Amino acid sequence: MSLRLPGIGPQTEIKLQKLGILSPRDLLYHFPSRYIDFSHFTAISQIRPDVNITVSGQIIHLQNIFTRSHKNFQKIIIKDSTGQVELLWFNQPYLIKNFKLGDTWAFAGTATLYKNKLTIFSPEYGQFNTGKIIPVYPETKGLGSRWFRKNISLNLNTFLKESVETLPQNILTQYKLLPILPSLSQIHFPQNATMLFQSRTRLAIDEILSLQSLSYLQRQAFLNLKPKFVLKNYSTTQLINSLPFKLTDSQIQAWQEIKADLLSPNKVTNRLLCGDVGSGKTIVALLSAYLTSLNQHQTLILAPTEILAQQHFQTFQKYLPKFPLYLLTAHSKIPAKIPKNAIIVATHAAIFQKDKFLKGSALLIIDEQHKFGVKQRSFLNSDHPIHTLSLTATPIPRTISLTLLGNLDISFLKNPPKNRQKIKTFLVPNPKITACYQWLEEQIKTQKTQAFIVCPFIEESESAVTIKSAKKEFDNLQKVFPKLNLALIHGKTESKARAKILADFAQNKINILVTTPIIEVGIDYPNATTIIIQSADRFGLSQLHQLRGRVGRGEQQSYCYFFTENQNETALKRLEYLSKTNDGFKIAEFDLKTRGPGETFSTLQHGFPSLKIADLSDVKLIELSQKILQTIISKSPDFDLKKLIQNQNYDQQIATHLN
Ligand code: ADP
Ligand code: MG
Repeated sequence: MSLRLPGIGPQTEIKLQKLGILSPRDLLYHFPSRYIDFSHFTAISQIRPDVNITVSGQIIHLQNIFTRSHKNFQKIIIKDSTGQVELLWFNQPYLIKNFKLGDTWAFAGTATLYKNKLTIFSPEYGQFNTGKIIPVYPETKGLGSRWFRKNISLNLNTFLKESVETLPQNILTQYKLLPILPSLSQIHFPQNATMLFQSRTRLAIDEILSLQSLSYLQRQAFLNLKPKFVLKNYSTTQLINSLPFKLTDSQIQAWQEIKADLLSPNKVTNRLLCGDVGSGKTIVALLSAYLTSLNQHQTLILAPTEILAQQHFQTFQKYLPKFPLYLLTAHSKIPAKIPKNAIIVATHAAIFQKDKFLKGSALLIIDEQHKFGVKQRSFLNSDHPIHTLSLTATPIPRTISLTLLGNLDISFLKNPPKNRQKIKTFLVPNPKITACYQWLEEQIKTQKTQAFIVCPFIEESESAVTIKSAKKEFDNLQKVFPKLNLALIHGKTESKARAKILADFAQNKINILVTTPIIEVGIDYPNATTIIIQSADRFGLSQLHQLRGRVGRGEQQSYCYFFTENQNETALKRLEYLSKTNDGFKIAEFDLKTRGPGETFSTLQHGFPSLKIADLSDVKLIELSQKILQTIISKSPDFDLKKLIQNQNYDQQIATHLN
């Protein structure tokens, strides 16, 4: 495709492609990343360090300085009626040519205290008194903000002729939204801060609204499906009374919600059960499988790892001893013919090859849903509608459920079982590591408790490199703890050997289990009360929270220690935050703010939208947008919501979900 715009040749087009700009529309939607405000000046005497300001002054000194080490920098001093300030740039010898002594210019930037003097490094500059808010664009080599300012302004009117208003007039009026044309022009060349704010709000609403419309349409399509299996109600009291504990209120409520789905004649269940680590999701899944089995239908439970599949299988055996239970993994086969009320626990790898078990099931339970890749999940979206219950420990902030997950029903397990103590968490500075190991040895000897030490992962999927480094660390640790019994497991540990190690660990024959992050999901050993996580900075916060959830499962006080070599301030802040917070929900919100939604929630949904303006942690914006959608649906039932989606340029992956 060619941009076919005056002044844009093939060379420029190649550069634009690097920024994802392939069409005139893309150029129009290439929004500034920030602005320099030349409409409002700070007096030089009022400049404070670390505050972003714009000043205007007369140039009283201009100098290109070359150092002996072949570096050069540029120095300008300006003055106004209140004082003077120094400006410094590096390696831009041509820059000085733009200025003349005695001229007045405006400069924007942040002042720093440098050699006891306030200095503004590499400020942006503009003609005196432009009085304007100047856009700064995401740039690429050879195409700077100046280029975008010029070319967007040249073509703006042509672009706008091709743009149409997507929102109904009554919505614009009711919600006092700026229409699309002025929004698109003000976002590039704002008249003032108010107009800029209004245009940003409008364009952000468009982005969120399109996601919400997409979820809404998907949900409508889903609601039109008829379930192949409608279940009848059977009493579950007997099972509930046989449990060694009382269900929490949240567990009871979640189970009621799921049961209502399963019994509904017109609805295919598509529910996500969210609950922090240790909140007791397994029992709720068990109840669902139980009801399905009483109805003489098959249940398939998928776990992301073999360890977890084995553990679930054992749990189910304990609570449902008389039921036809099967374990299907790479190492355990099941007969081709099984009773129609079978409950199969499988790893996804195994089911990938034997999808007849998927097809024969009335209920599909996906544990640790966030661990499954997009490909695996689209495989699970089989052609006939199956009741699906997904379990996840990823806490879902309201903003995310209102935008990306509107197509799902969600149940939350808000409160953990009562008997839990808060896990004490510490960030351990390098010099204290030895002391920490000594403390651990004491604990193990005196309290008879056990520990996990998690080795850093090198790559996301467990590779040879990760395993090699884990083995090396294991050798080290054996030297650190010569009197204790240590064992190592990783993703490639042979299934039999691993089962033996885990059985020994369960019987406290192993003091410290050294592992790669494969233990992250699901496993349950209440006597393990300490977890040490090496290179903790490499993990996402939610993942660290999951790892930490491997301890604190019994009545005893538990401990979590983070080691890190990273001295980066942000990295340390994130870890410190985690050591103060035990609430998975807050942690996810923090992660959302600091790392962005793509990192935190990409696993929950197919494809992830890259938003240009809207912020997925902005509660107000997202609730407003949701209200607008509701108004459109109720007041303009004939309005085609697809319009709101097609106007946004989502990648193919998301677009295909429209059909
Ligand atoms: P998760 O939500 O992380 O999957 P699990 O289902 O593995 O949590 O439950 C964690 C532990 O809590 C298990 O040992 C389980 O037996 C126990 N548990 C579950 N529900 C309750 C409850 N209502 N009261 C006490 N303990 C419970
Ligand atoms: Mg679990």
